[in-house]
Amino acid sequence: MALSTHPSQMSVALPTGIDGSSRSMIKVQSISFTEKSWGPLLRLDSKSRKLSLKKRSTICMSLQQASRSKVSVTPLELEDPKETPLNLYKPKEPYTATIVSVERIVGPQAPGETCHIVINHDGNVPYWEGQSYGVIPPGENPKKPGAPHNVRLYSIASTRYGDSFDGKTASLCVRRALYYDPETGKEDPSKAGVCSNFLCNAKPGDKVKITGPSGKVMLLPEDDPKATHIMIATGTGVAPYRGYLRRMFMENVPNFKFDGLAWLFLGVANSDSLLYDEEFAGYLKDNPENFRYDKALSREEKNKKGGKMYVQDKIEEYSDEIFKLLDNGAHIYFCGLKGMMPGIQDTLKRVAEERGESWEKKLTQLRKNKQWHVEVY
Ligand code: FAD
Repeated sequence: MALSTHPSQMSVALPTGIDGSSRSMIKVQSISFTEKSWGPLLRLDSKSRKLSLKKRSTICMSLQQASRSKVSVTPLELEDPKETPLNLYKPKEPYTATIVSVERIVGPQAPGETCHIVINHDGNVPYWEGQSYGVIPPGENPKKPGAPHNVRLYSIASTRYGDSFDGKTASLCVRRALYYDPETGKEDPSKAGVCSNFLCNAKPGDKVKITGPSGKVMLLPEDDPKATHIMIATGTGVAPYRGYLRRMFMENVPNFKFDGLAWLFLGVANSDSLLYDEEFAGYLKDNPENFRYDKALSREEKNKKGGKMYVQDKIEEYSDEIFKLLDNGAHIYFCGLKGMMPGIQDTLKRVAEERGESWEKKLTQLRKNKQWHVEVY
């Protein structure tokens, strides 16, 4: 919940959608209540998902006429530093933060589970959009008895102001790593991923050791508010883009009035696996001139050759436009599983050749111009 202290109004912004969608982001004039009174609405518990949703949609409908202006954020000093915050907490001395909420954000037909996790750092571990936190799961490192586990990195899925717009939290989008025996096909819990399971099983109030923030490659260049940003994601790779898009379309940030084009390509297995879809659909509805959103659902859609629809097939579909935008200085970002890159690079190379261009030269140029941003894991 964010309190605006704009001189002309006293307003309260409430994230009401399951993913804090802008459509359901409401601004209520001259109203006063305590944060506690919205407790059930904001409680993000995977088990109570149905109930929470119902309550949220009721609130949403009753205040549908409220204005959809941008949300006030605080503290604005988070805009001030000229230098990117980097490695404020290191593995030897991590910061102990607190879990605020863990919410399953995929539907029942999604293969696997992905959770949206809000962590309270009390403003002590500031970060910029596109950076990652490290997480040290509790327990002993099996490879180094007596030593803690190694750090796992997670892209931050919120803006620097966090989902509560007060600069005190960071959100992660975590896919639970499970292990299936290749021979029997049965799940083997003894080999389940340590950190992702710790995070997805965490409860509000649990402590979590974090390091960072880290990474500069995915920072959002803000020098030109009219720039084009082409964002390509598979699965949880959408995390940094959720941060960018909230900064562009949801938050009222005095020094960044985005008026360019943000184009998101998101590849997932099926519609139940879509992440933050309601939030993104809201931006599309409210900012059709500045936002494009294309999805590739590999298990539900076919590409033009009759195969599975992957994100590179969507890129191919729009390749003329994408190449023109790149020629005009667009930034292009790739985030998600490592395996996404070869297929995408092959597609871009083929399209370049069809256009009589050398992909190698083009790529060198894009890298040199700092238009090419890749973070895959
Ligand atoms: P680990 O315990 O590290 O295990 C890794 C894998 O090995 C698991 O699939 C596990 O099931 C399997 N395994 C375990 N034991 C065995 C065994 N004996 N034999 C065979 N296999 C075994 N992930 C996200 O979900 N969201 C993000 O936003 C995200 N951002 C990232 C950003 C960066 C820059 C990087 C580098 C990585 C990012 N990751 C992200 C990946 C994340 O860091 C972890 O690698 C991931 O969560 C798995 O960690 P884990 O501790 O759960 O699994």
